[in-house]
Amino acid sequence: MRSAMYTFVEDFRAEGTAAVLDRVLGTYGCDTVTVAAAYHRARDVTPHGPARVTLRGDGVHFSPPADLFDEARLIPPVQPGALEEPLRELRGTTAERGAHLHGWTVFLHNTTLGLAHPDVTQENCFGDRAAPADLCPAHPDVRAYAVALARSVARQGVDAVVAESLHYGTFGHGYHHERSFVALGAWEEFLLGLCFCAYCVRAAEGRGVDARKARAEAVSMTVGVLDGGAPSSGDLSDLDGLPEPVAAYARARRDTVTSLAAEVAEAVADEGSELVFLDLTGAAKGYGDGLPTGALAADDAWRIGVAPAAVGAVVPGYGLLAYARDPARIGADTAAYRAVLPDACSLRTVLRPGLPDTTDAGALAEKAAAATGHGGADAVDFYHYGLLPYPVLDRIPVALGR
Ligand SMILES: [Zn+2]
Ligand SMILES: [Zn+2]
Repeated sequence: MRSAMYTFVEDFRAEGTAAVLDRVLGTYGCDTVTVAAAYHRARDVTPHGPARVTLRGDGVHFSPPADLFDEARLIPPVQPGALEEPLRELRGTTAERGAHLHGWTVFLHNTTLGLAHPDVTQENCFGDRAAPADLCPAHPDVRAYAVALARSVARQGVDAVVAESLHYGTFGHGYHHERSFVALGAWEEFLLGLCFCAYCVRAAEGRGVDARKARAEAVSMTVGVLDGGAPSSGDLSDLDGLPEPVAAYARARRDTVTSLAAEVAEAVADEGSELVFLDLTGAAKGYGDGLPTGALAADDAWRIGVAPAAVGAVVPGYGLLAYARDPARIGADTAAYRAVLPDACSLRTVLRPGLPDTTDAGALAEKAAAATGHGGADAVDFYHYGLLPYPVLDRIPVALGR
């Protein structure tokens, strides 16, 4: 079973590259290291230290190449220690051990860039720029940034660039201290996360959508709860549940994301690597408790502007985050993506070996089998080396049958 382990540069720096590779490639039996090359702000409990709680900033673990960024408006912040080029070192050491190296790249989720350049962030139906973490995939400067970032990660010599957040953000996670004392239903929350910036509007209009009507409809559907009305009931169901102008507007976003994925994939291929597109829908559904409900992730990807079949046609690899306790759900989620992705597009299923999804090694083994059985995923990946206690990581070799 092919398998990658998600890691941070900080894990290697803290524990020593050889010691971490001994565990990941030797003890656990993974064949690929997926390391964060461009990451976002976080405060993480890191159980096997030496820092037991780690603060991370937005930014990249390399020097942004001058030819890609000298003329650019959006330049990635640089992480501490980037000048030591830790990814190049890791490329060398993983190659010596015959392992693959993937560069995990967070693209459009970047609070530092969003706060410095509010005009490139998502704008809601009321005209508020209130999602500094979510750069809009329709904005030309953001698209140029994504292509340059992808090229620069590929140039680190990685076998694949794993793209996180190369799509629209959601209202529930647009900043890092969100508050709402208004009861928002699932539909109101979705509508508040829709971007109506000039570029999104232009893109929708280019597809024959009446963006003005869509915006007015989004306002009228949301303003009710803000005025004290009852929130919409139930989970987000099919997009067809929305009035047509908004549904058409939300559908149009998928073309924006597909064309961006295509541009980025082409740039990555041009640098001699290949793109794996991570679809965060499964994480959005099961992140908190591992109990996703309602439709399978593939059928709900429209919530972040993703059409899996269309994206799969322009990228060589696709990843789904199967954040669920139930192995049957993981099997079904994987099968649903496999069914719509073209044969040429490989599929990776990402599992969480511990809280809140998995209780023991047997359960993890069941999930890995569910993901890869019946011609499902080509690989099972584990999230995440630095965030899990050693006894939880020890479930991985059992799951991989090592
Ligand atoms: Zn975030
Ligand atoms: Zn926009």
